[in-house]
Amino acid sequence: MDGEMTGITLTLLKDLAQLSATIGNNAMLSQGAGGNTSIKIDSTLWVKASGFWLQNASIEDIFVPLELKAVRRLIDSGSDYGIQYSVVDKRITSRPSIEATLHALLPQKVILHCHSIRALSFAVRTDSNFVLGERLKGLNWATVPYCRPGMPLTLAVKKVLCEKLPNVLILENHGLVVAAENCQAVQALLNEVETRLNRPKRTCISPDINLLLAIAAGSNYRLPIHEICHSLATSPISSEIVEGGSLYPDQVVFLGVNVTAVSRDEIFNYLSGAYKLAPFILIRGMGVLVKKDISPNAEEMIHALALVCIHIENKDGLKYLSATEEKELLGWEAEQYRISLQLNK
Ligand SMILES: [Zn+2]
Repeated sequence: MDGEMTGITLTLLKDLAQLSATIGNNAMLSQGAGGNTSIKIDSTLWVKASGFWLQNASIEDIFVPLELKAVRRLIDSGSDYGIQYSVVDKRITSRPSIEATLHALLPQKVILHCHSIRALSFAVRTDSNFVLGERLKGLNWATVPYCRPGMPLTLAVKKVLCEKLPNVLILENHGLVVAAENCQAVQALLNEVETRLNRPKRTCISPDINLLLAIAAGSNYRLPIHEICHSLATSPISSEIVEGGSLYPDQVVFLGVNVTAVSRDEIFNYLSGAYKLAPFILIRGMGVLVKKDISPNAEEMIHALALVCIHIENKDGLKYLSATEEKELLGWEAEQYRISLQLNK
């Protein structure tokens, strides 16, 4: 491919890689393989490949070139089945992001979609439109009702575009989209949105690490990499939020549904029992343990969940995904692919 690419294309892709890596390295914006970026250069849509991490954009080839017209035809047909056939170079085997149609739909040249913690902490509220209206006043923005990521979400955005052409989208129970004509403008707009959505995180008591280490000793569990994960159990508000249900797709896809929470008295029973082991356990009031063989993606998703919860004041007024929406995500073939890709690495 390199030989066929013009200098301009290479420069633009380098800009996109840099933007992607910056976002990927910020836990408040992107976690694991979540989030994706793209650029339209002439008739080609370069979009992040499924399963790749934005933070690796500067060190590996994470973008797949697609024929823009072909992807837009899929949007018209209402199905993204066969999107692999729109890959420009047939030798490429990596699969385009499940959000590729969303990137193709938006007319702006550079699109960033991420699971911003700040945006999510608002996008999971029933009154998100009202609160965001205050915070984003003066920006060209819109909210998009929750729809399963992939074609259903793209079609929901298409509906929004019938009325206006925003460059900031808040996806309910999902995340953020920022669009502009170049990477610098996307970065600037993202900074503006993040500043407006910023609010202090709640303070939580520190966990007793030695006690948790003693509990985990000899079990299938260990302590999480990110210490803030313990807040899911040490903060009663965070526990209540996370035990209330699923807030957004990546939580369901990587961590499953129904958080396992036990009391201090129950934990040894759990660890020695013949239960189907949960990816992570909240020991109420004490801290969090994660399964030793958890995938790097899932580990980052626990981190994200802790960050989202700690930025929410209380459980009141939150909207959770319905059982049907959870089921739809768990049976989702494209996401299964993304997980298997990560496990194979
Ligand atoms: Zn997403």
